[in-house]
Formats: sequence, structure tokens, C-alpha cells
Amino acid sequence: MRPSILDPLFAPATGLPGVGPKIAPLVDRLVAEPGQPARIVDLLFHLPTGGVSRKVAGKIADAPVGEPVSLVVTVSHHQPGPLNRSKAPFRVVADDDSGDIAIVFFNMPRARIERLLPIGARKVVSGKIEVYDGRRQMVHPDRVVDLDEIDTLPAVETIYGQTEGLTSRMFARLVGAALERVPDLPEWQDPAFLARERFLSFREALGALHRPDSVETVAGEAGLAHPARRRLAYDEALASQLALALVRARQRRKPGRSNVGDGRLVAAITERLPYALTGAQARALDDIRADMASDTRMLRLLQGDVGAGKTVVGLLAMASAIEAGRQAAMMAPTEILARQHYARLQPLADEAGLTIALLTGRDRGAERRAALAGFADGSIQIAVGTHALFQEEVAFHDLGLAVVDEQHRFGVHQRLALGAKGQAVDVLVMTATPIPRTLALTYFGDMDVSILDEKPPGRQPIQTKLVAQGRIGEVVKGLGRAMEAGARIYWVCPLVEESETIDLAAAEDRAEDLARWFGDKVGLIHGRMPGREKDEAMRRFQAGETTLLVSTTVIEVGVDVPEATIMVIEHAERFGLAQLHQLRGRIGRGSEASTCLLLYKGPLGETARARLEIMRETEDGFRIAEEDLKLRGEGEVLGTRQSGLPGFKLLRPETDGRLLETARDDARLVVERDPKLEGPRGEALRVLLYLFSRDAAVRTLGAG
Ligand code: ADP
Ligand code: MG
Repeated sequence: MRPSILDPLFAPATGLPGVGPKIAPLVDRLVAEPGQPARIVDLLFHLPTGGVSRKVAGKIADAPVGEPVSLVVTVSHHQPGPLNRSKAPFRVVADDDSGDIAIVFFNMPRARIERLLPIGARKVVSGKIEVYDGRRQMVHPDRVVDLDEIDTLPAVETIYGQTEGLTSRMFARLVGAALERVPDLPEWQDPAFLARERFLSFREALGALHRPDSVETVAGEAGLAHPARRRLAYDEALASQLALALVRARQRRKPGRSNVGDGRLVAAITERLPYALTGAQARALDDIRADMASDTRMLRLLQGDVGAGKTVVGLLAMASAIEAGRQAAMMAPTEILARQHYARLQPLADEAGLTIALLTGRDRGAERRAALAGFADGSIQIAVGTHALFQEEVAFHDLGLAVVDEQHRFGVHQRLALGAKGQAVDVLVMTATPIPRTLALTYFGDMDVSILDEKPPGRQPIQTKLVAQGRIGEVVKGLGRAMEAGARIYWVCPLVEESETIDLAAAEDRAEDLARWFGDKVGLIHGRMPGREKDEAMRRFQAGETTLLVSTTVIEVGVDVPEATIMVIEHAERFGLAQLHQLRGRIGRGSEASTCLLLYKGPLGETARARLEIMRETEDGFRIAEEDLKLRGEGEVLGTRQSGLPGFKLLRPETDGRLLETARDDARLVVERDPKLEGPRGEALRVLLYLFSRDAAVRTLGAG
């Protein structure tokens, strides 16, 4: 139940004076959550994006030109335009003791002007000063008020960005009324923290932002740094982190099991690897084994850029679970990847004396029945597969660890579903999407994180070049030379439209074109191919029977052919940054130098150009992700807009990263000290969770 103290804030906006049948839909469109009518709180969380100063400052002669100012003036005389020129402006000349100024009106009835600025009146006029014909003038002042009404002039007039047909002034009036309804809420923030950050109360902060006393409070960098905005952003950060911490605490309350292995299998596999683990891999493995050994459930995210070597860490984690006498499963987002994992793991498993089986949607018949039986009776120790591993008919004898590869293709529900396939299953999620730290906190704040921040040694940097589509002929010639020298090449065709058939046609056409030059060295793979054909296309490329593989974006995630050193991406301008980075990650995996050619069709828009430039500049996935965040905003980086995860209203992950981190620590402490949110601060924090629509987390409190 929502605390009743919040009722005035959750009341519909139509309860405000001035929000009638005409205005209400505009307000809804501007601030409401999808499918709901706007509430008062929605108006209040729509913060101004700037302001115009209305402070009376100085004299006419000193007033800055080109900036909005307010001046106290006396009207001296009227200068109507010549009678025969109806388009001519009406000028009102006014002065103070420093000089005079013309206040200019076009197309305004004379009677109205005379009422507004009668001769002899003292008035405050507010607007922008221009110089015309050597004279100062103000065209159509924004505001004209009597001297005794000067207090009604806000010090700063707020601007509300897009207002969907509402003027900023109308919106400001509505918000003004909404501010009157804000109750005094119990303080949910730690008092020492508030004092240190010089934060106002929630209510005062809203007031300070919607009725700012200076433009700097709401505009630009200064606005972002203003304690009032930061206070509200922190409130939202704390609500989100507390919600995650509560969910996490609940998951941990379900008892885990301690899985301690003797290290025998891990050592056997490590010895057989053709390389030594990097420091980062070893550290991640230590984290994982410590988690598994503890008697709480593991929920760990293994984050590492493309090519960082996550798979082997996953394998060793599985070996560790098996040492402890349990089973392990590794799940991949696509059939190709599941098969690739299986192909790589199977020989290692064999040598270590482990039993392993593959299960995908495609497997049927006897093989499938054997795998299912083996999982169920425990005779198969490692399961590798796709979503098929979730299906109800799949049962495990004693699943100890679930490894989920390439997390961003799986939803949260799915990762929990696999965890439900056994008693106290430890979960390791591996993601190749370099999620900016701040976002990782937001969406995976319920998990512990290990980061592979070190690539395997001996990798050479990938050279990335931008090439205009018109030079495709030269590119093909260059590829010919490279192929003669033994190179293996990916040629990626873009998503042309939302239609797979059309994409497919583009890829098929391109493969045909290239086959004219390179004959049967050209392979083709795309999403619509039957699975077995895909496998075959992949196998031939892997084996070097084909050396130029034309593909749609099916190769985006995870494919590992270390011999491939060249990638051509057609219409690179149509891809997002994250996707380009993923694609490019398919090369540069061996010790040979690699080249990525980004073919683009001009003219490039500003953002498209920025994306391609970033790709040329850096290979650092985290940097790319941060830039992506700046270019696109938070919701789209993780595709959350579609998935319906709550986004932020006030917080900006790209600037408020530190607030999020502080909030996470704060939330964890709260949950440790007051896991049921029953103390005085706990009660106040419940209010906070409702305020920011994180109330689903409150329900976990009752659920135990
Ligand atoms: P990703 O993190 O993108 O999933 P993979 O696990 O596919 O990366 O590994 C990329 C490549 O690096 C593979 O060919 C793998 O065999 C190799 N690799 C992994 N760890 C090391 C290491 N420590 N030293 C050298 N090569 C490694
Ligand atoms: Mg991988």
C-alpha cells in the first residue's frame, strides 16, 4: 500500500486549476507515464532546462545588448507609424535618467499599446535589447508590469524544453500550483550526508528548481552541478539502488550451498590450455570460486570486452562446480554460439575426463533423449545449449552452476529461470557488451562484478579505416591481394530495412558479386539459413575452405575464428556504435595484425560521423560505450526502452555516475542494518521507493 502521505503527489494533474479538457491531453503527452494520465508528481519531475533572468538590473544606458534584461522606465511619448504604411511599427519611447529606449510593436492594436504603456507611467519592461539605427530598442517585450507589481515578476522565468503545445509560461504556472501541493515528507536521506553535500530537503529542492533565483540554478553545467538538482538525482539513484539491493538480499536469503572443489580439474584443464591465463582471468576465477565456496548464492557478472577471454573463465568455473560433485550448464544466445562453445569445450572436457552434451532447439530424436536423460540422472556433467535449456522437460540431477554467455541477449527473467533449474544454483553471467560502469550499476546492481580489463597478450591493434562506398572497387582489389597472401575476411552487410528478406537479398547479391572475382572462396551466412547450413558455412570458413565470408549481422556476437584478420562493414553508418564494436571484435583475435574497413555512404549526418570517428580512434570498448551513452542516451544503450525497465527521470547516468556509486553503497548499508525497512529511516525510504515507482521492491519485503 502506498503511504497516504504521497496521495497529494499521486493525485491526477487534472485536479490543478487550469488543467481542463483542452490542456489535460497536452500535459499527459508531455509528462505522463505511458498509458496513464499525468499525476502531480509527473509535472514536478519535469524540470526546467533553462531560464531567463527577469531581475531588474541597472540603467538603460548600461544594459547589455542581446541579452534579456528588465528595466524600470518612464514612458515619455508614443510614435505611431505613418498612417499610409500600415505595416510600420508603433514605437513607445521611454527613458530613465541614463537615456532612452524605443519599445517597438508590430501589428498590435494601438489602443492596447496605449493601455499597456500610457504616457507618464512608470513600468518594468523585460525583454532583449537591440541596437537599430544607432538607437537602443526592445521589440515586443516579454513582460510589462507596473512598478508596484514588480514582486510578481519571477527572478527567473523558467524554460521547460519541449512543451508539446504548452508554452513554458503556462507550464510554469501549472508547476507553481503543483508545488503548493507538495507535502512535507519524512527525510529519507542520511542527515550527515545531507549536510556534507549541502542538500536541501526534497520539497525545497523542487521549489529551488522550479522557482530558481538565478539562471545558473537551472541552466548548463552549473545547473547540473546545483545541489538542488543533485539532491533529486540522488533521491532517484537511491531509490533505484535500494530496490536492487532489496531484490538481491531476497535472493541471498534463499540459502545457497557451499561448493568447494579440490582444484584438480581446474588444474588439469589449465595445464592443457595452449596459453597461460591473464592476470585478469585468474582474478576473476578467484572471485568466482570464492563465491561458489560461500554458502550464499553466487550472482556474478563477468564483464569483459570482446576478445578478452571470458569463455575459458566460464569453463573453469564449471570445472570447479563439477569438482564439488555437481553439474554445470553454459547457455549461449544463438545456435551458432552454442555449437562453437561445445566444439571448443568438448575436447578439453574429454581430456579432463568430463562428460558433456549439447542441447539446442534443433536437436531432436535419440541424441536429444540421451542428453535429457544424462542431465536428469547426473551422468552428463556439463550441459551446453541455447534457450532450449530452460524448457520444462529439461531437468538436472544436481545443477550447481549456470553460466549465461552474452547476457544482453537474455532478459533478467531468463537468467533467473535457469537459476531455478536446481537447488541454490550459482549464476555467472558473462557479457561482452561493455556496459558503462554507471549503467552496470543500474541494471546489474543486484550482482557482483568481475572485470576482465586485460586482453590476452600478443594482440596487435586493429587498424580501422573509413572508406567511401564509391571506392568499393579498390577495396575488392585490395582484398584479392590479401587473399592471395592467405588472409581470411568477413564481409558484413547491413540491416537495410526492418525486413529480413530484403537484408538477405542484399547479402546474397553481394556474395554473388564477390564470387565473380573470387569464385568458391566466397561463403555466405545469414540468419534465415537452416541451422545445418549455417554450421556448414561456419565450419568451412573456420577450416579455411572459404576465405571470404559474406554475412548479415548473425556473426555479431561471440564468433571466434582467430585466423580472420580483415573485416569489411558495408554501410557502416547504419550501425550503432555498440554493434560496430561487437562486429569488429570478430577480428584481432590472433597474433596477426588486423584491419577493419568501414564503408560508408555519404553525406554523413553529425552523429553518424561521430560514431565512425570514435571507431577509428579507439578499440576500447568501455570508452566506446561511454561515447555511445553520450550520443544516444541511457535508455537505448541497453535497449531498455523496449524492455520496459524503468528509466530515470531526473538522474543522468552520463553525469551522475558518482551519485549512483554512492547510492549503491548507501543502499547496501541500509539493507544490512534494516533489511525490512522498519526503523524511522526505513519507513521514510519506503516513501522514497513509491515516489520513484520502485515499489515492486517493497513487495519483496513481505515475501520473505
Ligand atoms: P570473449 O571474451 O569475447 O568471449 P573468447 O573467450 O572467445 O573471448 O576468447 C577470445 C580468444 O582469445 C579465443 O581464441 C581464446 O582462445 C583466446 N584466449 C583466451 N584467453 C587467452 C589467454 N589468456 N591468452 C591467449 N589467448 C587467450
Ligand atoms: Mg564470448
